[in-house]
Amino acid sequence: MIPSIVLEKISRIVGPTNYFDSAEDKITYSYDGTPLLSKLPDAVVIPQTREEIAEILKLANQEHFAVVPRGSGSGLSGGSIPVDNSIVLVMSHWNKILEIDTDNLTITVEPGVITSDIHKAAEQINLFYPPDPGSMTICTIGGNIAENAGGLRGLKYGVTKNYVLGLETVLPNGEIIFSGGKSVKDVAGYNLKDFFVGSEGTLGVFTKILLKLIPKPASSQTMLASFKTRNDAAETVSAIIAAHIVPATIEYIDRTTIRCVEEYAHLGLPTTVEALLLIEVDGHAAVVQEDASIIAGLCKRHNCVDLSVARDLDEAYKLKTARRAAFSALARVGPTTILEDVTVPRSEVGAMLERIDAIGHRHDVKFGVFGHAGDGNLHPTCLTDERDPAEIKRAESAFEEIFNESIRMGGTISGEHGTGLAKKKFLPALAGIPAVEMMRSIKSVIDPNSVLNPGKIFSIQPRCEGNLPTNREQIRKFEELGAWT
Ligand SMILES: Cc1cc2nc3c(=O)[nH]c(=O)nc-3n(C[C@H](O)[C@H](O)[C@H](O)COP(=O)(O)OP(=O)(O)OC[C@H]3O[C@@H](n4cnc5c(N)ncnc54)[C@H](O)[C@@H]3O)c2cc1C
Repeated sequence: MIPSIVLEKISRIVGPTNYFDSAEDKITYSYDGTPLLSKLPDAVVIPQTREEIAEILKLANQEHFAVVPRGSGSGLSGGSIPVDNSIVLVMSHWNKILEIDTDNLTITVEPGVITSDIHKAAEQINLFYPPDPGSMTICTIGGNIAENAGGLRGLKYGVTKNYVLGLETVLPNGEIIFSGGKSVKDVAGYNLKDFFVGSEGTLGVFTKILLKLIPKPASSQTMLASFKTRNDAAETVSAIIAAHIVPATIEYIDRTTIRCVEEYAHLGLPTTVEALLLIEVDGHAAVVQEDASIIAGLCKRHNCVDLSVARDLDEAYKLKTARRAAFSALARVGPTTILEDVTVPRSEVGAMLERIDAIGHRHDVKFGVFGHAGDGNLHPTCLTDERDPAEIKRAESAFEEIFNESIRMGGTISGEHGTGLAKKKFLPALAGIPAVEMMRSIKSVIDPNSVLNPGKIFSIQPRCEGNLPTNREQIRKFEELGAWT
């Protein structure tokens, strides 16, 4: 517990109207989008200036409490969940678009701007900010940068890191730096800006963000293809890539998800097929037409049973709803929805889908699977109930097997949701102990007192009493025993 005398000092920094410590406030900020994890903070603050954030972090170093940055709390790996002796630093009120620079094609925003508001602001002037997480109408750009969020358009346009040009960051010691800038090229010194992208709130608090915009594609074509078998759908994805066509989007939706979406959104989806692919191509009209017709041919060659092609933007929106509604539709079915984001090389998508199915059967748990198939990024989503501890245990064992399988195939345990609390125990198996050790060393140089979001991505304190491990062998033992907190 943070002593009340320290909480009073925190309250004085942000002012009493921006300080909250009632039971209701603490409960509200005790969880994010990650199931099965929550913890009450000691207080919640809404800082108004970057200097207040700096003061809070300096005080945290003096008084030894933790600070957990938070955007919208839509994260799916527990990144903004409080830790022991912590306050939550809410950044979602920092929601101003500060500048759009049409000469340099950039937009400068505060970290709490909702991602889809950046889309709207850019598109009004015929510019384009491509990263579009499924949560884009609720998540903040600060959270996107902290997680290096992906989205449906990642296949052609890349992910958040490809659009971050500059970051104003309050460091854990309270110093404020700006890394990056509007220059298209800049190789002076270490690339600190990219270093912060994906740091999951552990290395600094973003207070101002400079993003790259690109010209808006002149036209697009959206298609929804249904397949009798998931293998036909997976082979179609490989065939499209092999034909050297890079659609903006290739999304996969399995039968369980199709049925849930249909019950939820009544879109007229075919509920007897095993898989759907949502495909969107964009660019110059002539290229879009040519690519769309080649893709239609490839779908047919791989036994597509139906191909709906949107005639206008309204129809395109309706087809995309089939994918965008996937998580909400699945979440209605079971009281606890555990959504994961294993990612495998594209060539392994079909094999991974088979493995998820087999693992689900073996552990007697129900999965719906959807995801960014063009990126190899799949969301096996377990429909379960946390009131049934035996089923939760089976679900956890199933996910562990899925992660191990992904690593074996040359994939990863997270393509876009981050490691956070939820997946840190799998990181050593993926990255190797020396790599995790290096991450720990970087954290301890930048944040020696572990005040900023400690215990996320990897553990920092040994759980047991006694000396810290000093060599690789001892560290390996600690990891194997799960002896880090
Ligand atoms: C329905 C649904 C669909 C989703 N679809 C996708 C998807 O397609 N792609 C994808 O990548 N993710 C997706 N997500 C996950 C989530 O929306 C993203 O991780 C998003 O980037 C989190 O943003 P947030 O504002 O909610 O951040 P939070 O959850 O509040 O925080 C996430 C992390 O960012 C840190 N953070 C927040 N603000 C700052 C700041 N200003 N400075 C430093 N650190 C900060 C936090 O400490 C935490 O570690 C989805 C989630 C849901 C619920």
